[in-house]
Amino acid sequence: MNRIVLHQGDITQLAVDAIVNAANSSLLGGGGVDGAIHRAAGPELVQECRMLHGCKTGDAKITAGYRLPAKHVIHTVGPVWQGGDSNEDALLASCYQKSLELAEKHGLKAIAFPAISTGIYRFPLERATRIALTTTQNFLKSHALPEQVIFVCFSQHDLEVYRQILAEVHPDT
Ligand code: ADP
Repeated sequence: MNRIVLHQGDITQLAVDAIVNAANSSLLGGGGVDGAIHRAAGPELVQECRMLHGCKTGDAKITAGYRLPAKHVIHTVGPVWQGGDSNEDALLASCYQKSLELAEKHGLKAIAFPAISTGIYRFPLERATRIALTTTQNFLKSHALPEQVIFVCFSQHDLEVYRQILAEVHPDT
């Protein structure tokens, strides 16, 4: 089975064990995918998020999915791109690593990631995609869970970039 899957579409529509939210450090909602997830999950999501007291860049926290088809939301805070010399690569890798660790800890089989930091936070897409795919591949090599990781690309262009980089990094998972 191919444990890494690419999908083009709206992450809020996926009936998986968890979707990952590219949140901001307040965890109280924002624009982009964050706004879409909060709108689709309903107001109970922000109520639970309030009790988490924020999240540091590179870290991740889990909540229920409420009105989403997904059972859980893993909220992670990606770095804002500042030119590449502010630890952005390591912080972005940490978002994927911590989200995967949470999924594993909670026994989740299928999780879906958006392209964290590549929207409002302006992280260059190809560089971010390489980090997303290699961090995930490395994690999957030594863990049975999650069984499946879906990378959700919002646009056709994003999907093409993910396809190209996935072929380059040759997943053997
Ligand atoms: P960040 O602030 O981390 O850059 P954004 O939400 O601005 O987060 O963008 C992250 C990625 O999520 C971008 O590729 C954007 O196109 C994508 N995106 C926005 N809405 C959705 C959605 N409903 N489903 C999947 N991806 C989405």
